[in-house]
Amino acid sequence: MEKLKDWDQFEIGSVLFPFKKGVDGAMELYKCERTYSGDSSFTDSVAHWRVEKPVHNSEICINCFNCWVFCPDAAILTSNDKLAGVDYVHCKGCGVCVDVCPTNPKSLLMFNDHKDNDEALREWPQKQPKKTEA
Ligand code: SF4
Ligand code: SF4
Repeated sequence: MEKLKDWDQFEIGSVLFPFKKGVDGAMELYKCERTYSGDSSFTDSVAHWRVEKPVHNSEICINCFNCWVFCPDAAILTSNDKLAGVDYVHCKGCGVCVDVCPTNPKSLLMFNDHKDNDEALREWPQKQPKKTEA
């Protein structure tokens, strides 16, 4: 796989233009159909400084797409109308997707960025009992 340029290899203050042919109409296309410029926040690595990452547990996920709607970086992946995981080349580790996940336990949880995803899935917490009002 081609090595992506890292964010600290760009000159400070430089502007990255995402599309080769301008923005007109590009947003109506699927990501794979757009013509991105060589140096853009899509084609280069803009997330390797992340400290924590979200891990997706498809066994619990109800495919409500809350995380997809709220992710500020379009880093939630979908496939065939289902959640398909996280795009770690673009995910910044902000944790918003975990906050908005409604399942019990959550279907997305934050782990250290170096943690193996399969190991994280084995450590997944159990369902929590409902809190009762005092
Ligand atoms: S941690 Fe933030 S950037 Fe990464 S997938 Fe979740 S909401 Fe998106
Ligand atoms: S918010 Fe949680 S349950 Fe809903 S699609 Fe995302 S991971 Fe699945």
